[in-house]
Amino acid sequence: MGKYEILRERLDAMPDIRRILSEPATDGQLALVHTPEYIQSVVQGTLSPSAQREIGFEWSPGMVQRARGSSGATIQAARTALVEGVAGNLAGGTHHAYPDKGSGFCVFNDTAVTARLMQAEWARSKPRQILRVAIIDLDVHQGNGTAKVFQGDDSVFTLSLHGARNFPFRKEASDLDIELPDGTTDIAYLEALERALEELEHRFEPQFVLYLAGADPHEGDRLGRLKLTFDGLEARDRRVFDWAWHKRLPVAFAMAGGYGHDIEQTVQVQVNTFGVALEYWRRWEAWRPKLGQNGTP
Ligand SMILES: [Zn+2]
Repeated sequence: MGKYEILRERLDAMPDIRRILSEPATDGQLALVHTPEYIQSVVQGTLSPSAQREIGFEWSPGMVQRARGSSGATIQAARTALVEGVAGNLAGGTHHAYPDKGSGFCVFNDTAVTARLMQAEWARSKPRQILRVAIIDLDVHQGNGTAKVFQGDDSVFTLSLHGARNFPFRKEASDLDIELPDGTTDIAYLEALERALEELEHRFEPQFVLYLAGADPHEGDRLGRLKLTFDGLEARDRRVFDWAWHKRLPVAFAMAGGYGHDIEQTVQVQVNTFGVALEYWRRWEAWRPKLGQNGTP
């Protein structure tokens, strides 16, 4: 939990990063994905002991506030990214949450809620058009909750690149799952990512990207079981942002997992993600004036 505060301090010290305070997600927004019964049991504190065990921490008013806040921040990141090209949440990426239950430190599925909400907001100005969203989940654990939410939904493509032998042990079918063996290193990982992006591109034409930039594939992670270096993870981030930039796809990203033996290492991976994101935000900044002159899009 301590990583979030350190991350915020580190980012506040970086020039050109603008921090926007977001609103907590409302019940109505959460209900785009979650069942009313589940939302109520979280909000009113009536989760059963076993439901709390599956989430991984005890219910408290602070837990509700955090879960709402974290989902609200991904929503804000998405709204900002749709205007500015790139924006990130300093938390979020709680991809193990299902419509009717939380799991693995995840209460609400911020990414799924955001994808649905952006589709709804998009439809207001572009009726009869459904925003096509690609969710690129590079947290080391499978995005099982997200996969389940969007099964059979052609408007959202779920890609998950994760450790084969890691949590969750019963995986769901994403649109594209790439399973990696324990101990996977930079080169093998980046090759797998390349193949995954090629296949995504072949099967789906996204208009918007939600990226889960988990820090837990790092070699210093307690739970990750992979062996990526700082450079490898930075190359991963760069590949995702570059891939999206070449198609001029806005990207909103969230931090997802990261459980370093040394918390500073986890934060460093995440700071590096913001550093790469900032480079691509600057490209959008430089490109946007030309947009106006050409009058497109
Ligand atoms: Zn994870």
